[in-house]
Amino acid sequence: MRSKGHHIRVVETLRTADRQKWLYGIGRTHRLKDKPVTWTLNSIHLTGNAADVCCERTGYNAGDKFWDDLKTCATLYGCEIGPPPWDRGHVQLLY
Ligand SMILES: [Zn+2]
Repeated sequence: MRSKGHHIRVVETLRTADRQKWLYGIGRTHRLKDKPVTWTLNSIHLTGNAADVCCERTGYNAGDKFWDDLKTCATLYGCEIGPPPWDRGHVQLLY
């Protein structure tokens, strides 16, 4: 990503089951936000094989070029974006 002019901020990697359960509750059982922020209790984050990243400068408001380049780089290194596909900052190892 640096060779493409981007600087990445790693937001989160390994999660505990308790944290995943709390995140899963957002938008469902508690209202930190109105909409859910994760779709599963069985996240790849629990094994440490996923990372949530964003642009160091603009966060999750990065432009399409940042997200397109992230997807290209992730694929190059044996990773994928998402699932779900709309979660463009979630990078996980392919098995
Ligand atoms: Zn994630």
